[in-house]
Amino acid sequence: MKLLEEKVLQEGIAVNENILKVDSFINHQIDPVLMKAIGEDFADHFKDCGITKVVTIESSGIAPAFSTALAMQAPLLILKKSPSKVLNENMYQTIVTSYTKGASYELTLASHLISEHDHVLIIDDFLANGEAATGAIRLIRKAHATVAGIGILIEKSFQPGRAKLEEQGFSIYSQVRIAKLDKDVIELMP
Ligand code: 5GP
Repeated sequence: MKLLEEKVLQEGIAVNENILKVDSFINHQIDPVLMKAIGEDFADHFKDCGITKVVTIESSGIAPAFSTALAMQAPLLILKKSPSKVLNENMYQTIVTSYTKGASYELTLASHLISEHDHVLIIDDFLANGEAATGAIRLIRKAHATVAGIGILIEKSFQPGRAKLEEQGFSIYSQVRIAKLDKDVIELMP
């Protein structure tokens, strides 16, 4: 997606060979006009997939997932992170290891908000090792719902997330694909 590619190149900050900061338009401050265009682009890409719900992980996924859900006229489900394991029979729960924080968290989904009739689109800001998306998929499967596709704003294509998810047969659409990062260097895929 041209608009997001330009924004990443202009305002993204490559901290090192692994981490890209996008605090000025996604993670700390949000560019609402860009978010609207991001949502419309995902909605257009996945328009024929029979999606019943958009699913994201709090908190950075919420803005793009909301604009996607609005463009698709579908409900948005937010998977919540909780620091400790609170056992609750009305919740689906799974443990995810955070890429940026290195720590694990419990991802939760209230069981009454999803059913086996749901065909969901997962939206997240970054794809790195695929842990967050894999955790989301585990929860969706616990509910016997199905995954229509995975929409990512920024994929770090030099990390293993895409390959891991594609091996399992998932359809991934990334609006920006990064080939290489280094301090102050951002190279997009050709
Ligand atoms: P994964 O689970 O695919 O390993 O990592 C994806 C999650 O980690 C995303 O939800 C995102 O919040 C965070 N993340 C991974 N890489 C980056 C990065 O380079 N920059 C930022 N800001 N977040 C990242």
